[in-house]
Amino acid sequence: MSDLFDLFKEISPNGEQKPNDYPEIINIHWYGGVDKLPPNSIYMGRGSIYGNPFERHGKTRIDVCEQHKEMLALRLEKDKEFEHKMMNDLKGKLLACFCKNKHKEIPCHCDNYAEEYYKRFKAGWFSCSEDH
Ligand SMILES: [Zn+2]
Repeated sequence: MSDLFDLFKEISPNGEQKPNDYPEIINIHWYGGVDKLPPNSIYMGRGSIYGNPFERHGKTRIDVCEQHKEMLALRLEKDKEFEHKMMNDLKGKLLACFCKNKHKEIPCHCDNYAEEYYKRFKAGWFSCSEDH
């Protein structure tokens, strides 16, 4: 699917292999609405548990994505149940949000999830699940 934005290329430019089940980010606008999303997608926008709670109010999108990045890292550290849920929910999914741009000119809080997912994946999350 050429529609997909390949964050993986952005975060691992040194020739690493993209893992199976790596989540991809899609823009809901590409599909014409939340109700028209592909079946393997998960809605990540406001109102979902994965939505970004920080509102713009004059701040830039970069600012609120940064705020979200910090909040997410903290929560994943403290809330192991959430960490598990995130890893299972996002595995192999299309992360659907309203802001993703194919050329990464627009940051999205889903980038943060994909990066956190990948960190854990790389550390062997799915190969030693007993440890969690
Ligand atoms: Zn987004």
